[in-house]
Amino acid sequence: MDFKELLNRHPFFGEIHSAAEELGLKAYVIGGFVRDFILGRPSKDIDVVCIGSGIELAEAVARKVGKEGKVTVFKNFGTAMLTIGEWEVEFVGARKESYDRNSRKPVVENGTLEDDQNRRDFTINALAVSLNKTTYGELLDPFGGVKDLKRKIIRTPLDPKITFSDDPLRMMRAVRFAAQLNFDIAPDTFDALSEQAERLKIVSEERIIDELNKIILTPKPSYGFKLLFHAQLLHQFFPEMVALHGVETQNGLSHKDNFYHTLQVLDNVAEVSDDLWLRWAAILHDIAKPPTKRFDKKVGWTFHGHEDKGARMVPHIFRRLKLPMDHKMKFVQKLVRLHLRPIALVKDTVTDSALRRLLFDTGDDLDALMKLCRADITSKNDNKVQRYLRNFDKVERKIQEVEEKDHVRNFQPPVSGEEIMEAFGLKPSREVGEIKEEIKEAILEGKIRNNREEAWRFMLETAKAKGLEPVRK
Ligand code: ATP
Repeated sequence: MDFKELLNRHPFFGEIHSAAEELGLKAYVIGGFVRDFILGRPSKDIDVVCIGSGIELAEAVARKVGKEGKVTVFKNFGTAMLTIGEWEVEFVGARKESYDRNSRKPVVENGTLEDDQNRRDFTINALAVSLNKTTYGELLDPFGGVKDLKRKIIRTPLDPKITFSDDPLRMMRAVRFAAQLNFDIAPDTFDALSEQAERLKIVSEERIIDELNKIILTPKPSYGFKLLFHAQLLHQFFPEMVALHGVETQNGLSHKDNFYHTLQVLDNVAEVSDDLWLRWAAILHDIAKPPTKRFDKKVGWTFHGHEDKGARMVPHIFRRLKLPMDHKMKFVQKLVRLHLRPIALVKDTVTDSALRRLLFDTGDDLDALMKLCRADITSKNDNKVQRYLRNFDKVERKIQEVEEKDHVRNFQPPVSGEEIMEAFGLKPSREVGEIKEEIKEAILEGKIRNNREEAWRFMLETAKAKGLEPVRK
């Protein structure tokens, strides 16, 4: 592999080289950028390590690059970021690190390139390419990183137990890289994951979730989740999901393994959408199956109300995992709550009012809900899957017809609360709310159509039944 070609591709490597020469420093491109170049993956983040001050080198390069470049210095970390167009180059002095058992924060001192490569998490992330005069473009690969890239293996440079115990976040990163690159984890590295899993407790939820979200966004997220589960990492921060695992049998009747079912649904969703939150809805759609599970002698296993209980669990899980508590959580919660509704609409006898209610309840999220429901069909019997999918086509057609007729998808009350108050001389009160609600119900039930004229007439009738007379103007 010709790394000179890599360096020549980006003119600023020449600038880094000459700035380092002038300062009498040794400099190297290191880490993800080299890895991704070898893998042919695009990458916009470049890490440069130098034997000396990264900040000084960054400033010298910035002077050479001129007004195109912008430096941001992080004094506390001893690093500097140079932005050149869409490129971000981070400069750091080579470090040697030693760890204390109770913290992820190491004691840092200046070190050699070798020290710096030793502190890297994986062999494939410890690759460095020289930017120095006599060795320009030479690869420094002390741990066989290139071989591991070829063999598709995640492996730590040093003893994995120590590497993971020092900084347990690396365990999540191991799974994340395996998932993103579709690599295996080397057996001794995997054993160390299982052994050190409990150390994840000292890592903040934010960091864990950052990695988890990257795993969720891979093309086949089930792989990463299976690794997390088998290494017992998932157990450390997501017990509700672990509880989905397993099959129970009574009177010869078994229910399906909801962990593997959930992963299949997640993979199915991943095939049709890159939306992180739709993927989260897939992860959580059956989350309340374990706490709602019952065995009934007549009907076998049931999970009654798991959609409502699951929806109630969503904010708790989001809060604990430090996921956003805003509209994204509400979206996931809504999908969890509604995920059984379209299935109930498959029957031929389904009424328009049931369709209108689903439209009203889902609003703009109907398409996402339908994607989740289609993904939820995980039978091994392909004929069955095809039949169910055709049923969903039918439901979608029916919903479309109703929407064209009644426009309840983004329901706006045809008569406002203000207007009701004005019509009957009322102050803001429960009665106003009740009238408004009854109008909405009448529309959803199909008693009246969704227009102002019919709603106004209905309002007058409803108010009359409550003993209210319109005020004369
Ligand atoms: P990506 O950009 O896909 O996240 P990356 O490898 O560039 O991949 P970064 O998190 O940007 O990942 O880290 C840059 C480099 O720093 C890595 O390649 C690795 O060498 C090193 N590194 C990052 N985090 C750690 C860690 N917790 N322990 C050891 N080395 C790390």
